[in-house]
Amino acid sequence: MSDKLIVAGPCSAETEHQVIDTAKQLSSIGITHYRAGLWKPRTLPNTFEGLGQKALPWLLRVKRELGMQVGTEVANKEHITLAVNAGVDFVWLGARTVTNPFAVQEIADRLKDMTVDIVVYVKNPVIADIALWLGAIERLQNAGVTRLVAVHRGFHTGTTSIYRNAPQWHVPIEFKRLRQDIPLLCDPSHISGDSALVEQVIVQASKLNYDGLMVEVHNSPKDALSDKNQQITPEQFAKTLDKIHFGSTVDNNEILSVFRSQIDEIDKSLFDIIAQRMELSEKIGLYKKANDISVLQPARYEELLSNSLTYAKQHQLNADFVKHIVELIHQESINRQL
Ligand code: PEP
Ligand code: MN
Repeated sequence: MSDKLIVAGPCSAETEHQVIDTAKQLSSIGITHYRAGLWKPRTLPNTFEGLGQKALPWLLRVKRELGMQVGTEVANKEHITLAVNAGVDFVWLGARTVTNPFAVQEIADRLKDMTVDIVVYVKNPVIADIALWLGAIERLQNAGVTRLVAVHRGFHTGTTSIYRNAPQWHVPIEFKRLRQDIPLLCDPSHISGDSALVEQVIVQASKLNYDGLMVEVHNSPKDALSDKNQQITPEQFAKTLDKIHFGSTVDNNEILSVFRSQIDEIDKSLFDIIAQRMELSEKIGLYKKANDISVLQPARYEELLSNSLTYAKQHQLNADFVKHIVELIHQESINRQL
């Protein structure tokens, strides 16, 4: 795990004792990067909005006394100015900030004016719009920031699920494909929203080739003033880190290549079959046209969808996955008949 970047610390800095005590415990388990929010973007007014500037000296004490790299969230030009002038090692732009290109540009412009090369972490935006995430990174790069780190913290979907923010793993996977040059961390705390789920998300992330983690750890989660439900203790975090193993990135193994050539053959047959199906769809399309029959036949579509459930059961495949494939195939058939 030594080559992974592990950032941990409380959601918010609350008291000097909480900041120092949490940092000491994390340092003693080998954590080198410490986070604590000073300016907290809250959904509702009249909730704890962070202590701001007042808590900066506590982070600097952590840096001085424990030798940790320290960082905090910035959401506007005042925050970045204060954080840089105080000498923090890294800052992060939160999900809400990355959702707003004006705010990102304001921070980028200020960094350019200050000509400092601080490490900037960019969380994914609240919704799964990968272009917004990439755009924020580009704005910072254009302003001369060279050390960027992306953080996947899940997405608001408006649907109920066990997660506070659905991981939608395909989005960070696509991010990684497009920006292989930017290290990508997983933030299991904001994905889970629940301390009981944090370990499970870390285990999943450890298999997906992330470059590290950003985790909310508090010396007394039950007393936390923000994100109380998702924070874990340094002890719990240490136990989780002991259990997990980040998969190797080595990818040139002979056994894997045998499996992969079998997979390639199967994929080839899958597409042969899909092409045959599309040819048939086109024939049906011509018949419908000649006989003035509407392309979309809702009852037939219903039948295809209910068949998909049967196939899923027969082959022990995930029902949503099979339904999704049937929807895509049906849509393409319709396109060919229009
Ligand atoms: C945080 O890290 O405490 C935070 C507010 O995160 P996010 O922007 O991911 O909600
Ligand atoms: Mn938080």
